[in-house]
Amino acid sequence: MDLKFENSFAQLPSYFYSRTQATAVKDPKLIIFNQTLAEQLGVSGDLTNDNNLAQIFSGNLCPTGAEPLATVYAGHQFGGFSPQLGDGRALLLGETVTAKGERFDIQLKGAGPTPYSRNGDGRSALGPVLREYLVSEAMHKLGVETTRALAAVTTGEEVARERLVAGGVITRVAKGFVRVGSFEYFSSQGNQQAVKQLADYEIARHYPQAKNTDNPYVAFLAAVIDKQAKLIAQWMNIGFIHGVMNTDNMAISGETIDYGPCAFMDEFSHKRVYSSIDRNGRYAYSNQPQIGQWNLVRLAETLLPLFANRDKDPEGKVAVGIAEELLNDYQEKYQAYWLSGLRRKLGLRTAQEQDLTLVDNLLNIMEQNNADFTLTFYYLSQLSEEGSAKDEPLQKLFTQPNEINTWLTTWRKRLADESSIDKKRQTSMQSVNPIYIPRNHQIEKAIRLAEDQNDFSAFHSLNSVLQNPFSYQPGKENYMLPPKSDEVVHQTFCGT
Ligand code: AMP
Ligand code: MG
Repeated sequence: MDLKFENSFAQLPSYFYSRTQATAVKDPKLIIFNQTLAEQLGVSGDLTNDNNLAQIFSGNLCPTGAEPLATVYAGHQFGGFSPQLGDGRALLLGETVTAKGERFDIQLKGAGPTPYSRNGDGRSALGPVLREYLVSEAMHKLGVETTRALAAVTTGEEVARERLVAGGVITRVAKGFVRVGSFEYFSSQGNQQAVKQLADYEIARHYPQAKNTDNPYVAFLAAVIDKQAKLIAQWMNIGFIHGVMNTDNMAISGETIDYGPCAFMDEFSHKRVYSSIDRNGRYAYSNQPQIGQWNLVRLAETLLPLFANRDKDPEGKVAVGIAEELLNDYQEKYQAYWLSGLRRKLGLRTAQEQDLTLVDNLLNIMEQNNADFTLTFYYLSQLSEEGSAKDEPLQKLFTQPNEINTWLTTWRKRLADESSIDKKRQTSMQSVNPIYIPRNHQIEKAIRLAEDQNDFSAFHSLNSVLQNPFSYQPGKENYMLPPKSDEVVHQTFCGT
């Protein structure tokens, strides 16, 4: 296997990272290799030798041109500041540039300790590897900005968690892994030069349009804010709960990163939390937009010295004013992305003032009636403007159908203003309302089988269904259904 490396982060001053080698594992075995992604990345050579791929994607064999390093960052974790975190179990092999000129980071997760491992072992358990593979690839197919998964392997070694469990390594691909926490690390150390270098690097890599503006750093923050507003709106529109929105898990590139105890909701609730460590619900579903803003304030704070000339702004008031204005825009941007996403979900092409109420009412009725989030929108996408027997599957999702029936009448009145054709509207709705999402209980089943019996068939079947989340796949009805009462997964774990 041949991957052309073109490493730019390794050219930055050495205080940004530590050069670290992966620690070899006993008996790596390939679980999956993402051929399609490999092709997009321009990977060449023999891609069929599973043993060779397992050696590379476990970290046992360092590919030519890789310059492995672990990056340093800090982060606000559940609101409290940790001055030094860093890639404790992740290792950046390097970057590759595709034929289209897009630059991607290639990173192993679980390949052994680094100088930032603190008390951790630098390893990943197999369960979280499988979860991240399934969910990140599903997110991509759902149209959400995310890191991708290139490969997953078992290590042939056990890792100590609550008990001994099988170990694994996942290879992740991202437009960029620099985080809000990366800026916080240097800012908290008073290393303003490093903050500027990092900002320049990120501008060149992700936001080159910011460069030719009056103040590139202001334009940079504005662009990051816009990206995050859009990303979190997308999460909300598909019922995704990240679970650990610490500032070290928010990428400057605007991609969803660090899939830990994340989950998609089954029954809708504004307050839904799955993560076992999120005891106060800080990262509950409906808190996500606000937390996004909180994290962006932390980023803005690190950039303030770059916003205005200190001689002219000795107290930093001008800089703070600029930042506040941008951060205030976040709410409006988020709301606009979110609402336009929901209009598409409801088949509305035009915008009317009362659409917000229509959406809010639907969500509230869903919550009060324990309706499944994904199926509600999917069944809605089947309905005609007239109303028919087809309403039944939707009604059945609600404990009390009266309220949803009243809502449907209002929705249909609203549709009448659109003069859309049923078929066209349904097709458009079905292109944004998935049938298949990586449901928690299905992921759990796949993990259990893999962990307990070294059987990856459930993982592969689920992964295969998730490749086409918007198309009905005959015989795969099981994957669209919510969990039965004894299958419900109430909590998810980081597994770190
Ligand atoms: P997370 O919130 O899961 O992304 O991780 C928070 C921090 O803990 C990061 O700095 C990780 O690198 C580190 N970490 C998590 N798990 C491990 C592990 N098994 N070994 C070393 N460091 C870890
Ligand atoms: Mg993290």
